[in-house]
Amino acid sequence: MSDARSMTPRLPEPKLLIDGESVAPEGGTIPVTNPATGETFFHAPAAGVSDVDKAVHAARRAFESGPWSRMNPSARGKLVRKLAEALWERREEVALVGSLENGKTFREAIRGDVAPGSATLAYASEWSNKLAGEVLPVDGSFLTYVQREPLGVVAAIVPWNYPTCLACWKLGPALATGCTVILKPSELTPLTAMKLGELAREVGFPPGVLNVLPGYGAPTGEALARHPGVDKIAFTGSVRTARRLLHASADTNLKKLTLELGGKSPQIIFPDADMARAVEACFWGIFGNKGEVCNAGSRVLVHARAHDAFAETLAKRAREMVVGDPLDARTEMGAQVSAHQLETILGYIESGKSEGATLACGGARDSEGIKAKGNFLKPTVFVDVQPHMRIAQEEIFGPVLSVLRFEDEAQALRMANGTSYGLAASLWTRDVARAHALAKKVQAGVVWINCFNEFDDAAPFGGYKESGWGRDLSAHALENYTQLKTVWTHLPEV
Ligand code: NAD
Repeated sequence: MSDARSMTPRLPEPKLLIDGESVAPEGGTIPVTNPATGETFFHAPAAGVSDVDKAVHAARRAFESGPWSRMNPSARGKLVRKLAEALWERREEVALVGSLENGKTFREAIRGDVAPGSATLAYASEWSNKLAGEVLPVDGSFLTYVQREPLGVVAAIVPWNYPTCLACWKLGPALATGCTVILKPSELTPLTAMKLGELAREVGFPPGVLNVLPGYGAPTGEALARHPGVDKIAFTGSVRTARRLLHASADTNLKKLTLELGGKSPQIIFPDADMARAVEACFWGIFGNKGEVCNAGSRVLVHARAHDAFAETLAKRAREMVVGDPLDARTEMGAQVSAHQLETILGYIESGKSEGATLACGGARDSEGIKAKGNFLKPTVFVDVQPHMRIAQEEIFGPVLSVLRFEDEAQALRMANGTSYGLAASLWTRDVARAHALAKKVQAGVVWINCFNEFDDAAPFGGYKESGWGRDLSAHALENYTQLKTVWTHLPEV
């Protein structure tokens, strides 16, 4: 890994990508601010409603009558593979702008965002010619088969916390199955998506197949959500925005939706757990990527017998965490994505204090030295947290951990399932039978046993309850971008 401090960022051309062309935006510009320094270092284009319309028409043409629909599946797969390879080759370049726009460390930008994004594209590319249909054993004299067809024009609306990886979670299966895409990144992190657009052009994607429209939620995202030419929204973001998308779909063309939303994931620690590993997993589970992680292990539930020692070891590790310049290889935690996000997190810290939780460490801005200009926060651990408190119920999306004490398994399970979310959970115990029995009862789309935050392209990811609909990653993700067609042929008697 290069020393990011000595690298010069290669910023993208400040234009939209529509129909294979660089297009000046009709919606003005978006100032992009470095969360670590407070400096605005780029003005990204903001797509207006008319730009959305143009991009949707380009994507539809590429889907219905353009080269994408005529291309052999294997050739389509090869192009997606080329994009994966280009992203891997240029990972440092993309990660640098990703770190500058998001505030995550350069290391996290490479290992947690760009590299996994490239891997997902590579995995999806292999599926382009492997989605077979079925011949059905129906009654009567018929040949009846089912084939999978691409859904059409997909609007991928993604957030700022893993801007490259989450875009690739949508692009991979959408493009591999033959859909065309309009990618709308968050207004806070448009650069990485623009880089993806650049790479797609360079590797030879036909015009209209991938369009990149940076813009705000309104009007850009809303225009996509309401456009009758969009067949599907592949969304990652907040529950609040998901509700708006559902309304927009209901009010227009009933476009399909997949929703990857928030979480309040519990890590449950039993007294027989491997404590050293569990502490490390709980530490990175909340402080990795500065807690701006949908499946962050933001609640740690510890058995009463282990509670005090566990909480203290965790708080000690948090006090020692190196917070600072995201480009410095020694830094463990960078800056929160925006001043607004920092204020939201500080508001939750106040609510924790006023509701009676005890601060074991952190709880304030970190404004030491050069950090004064950025959105830095001290890693925060609350103990004496009760399940009804806001810090135990709501997604904070920052480096704030709530530690809760439980007396028995039944209470742990009630606490674990006692929020509106159901994205992920982990169980730490050497009792394998207990772990599997509990895994069955935990309401979460992913359960990790004696590990946390493990991802693989072969393993689906997504939530129960208000954490969303549908799954990203794995072969299951392909179902979100295809629909079934049943074809009946009457066979004459011979
Ligand atoms: P957000 O919902 O505010 O924004 C997400 C995207 O939606 C952005 O591109 C935004 O511009 C767009 N948007 C906002 N309003 C819109 C509207 N009215 N119509 C159409 N688009 C609109 O979320 P965020 O703050 O960017 O991201 C944080 C959220 O994302 C958290 O809740 C987090 O848990 C969730 N998240 C989930 C996963 C997952 O895989 N489950 C992964 C990462 C983040």
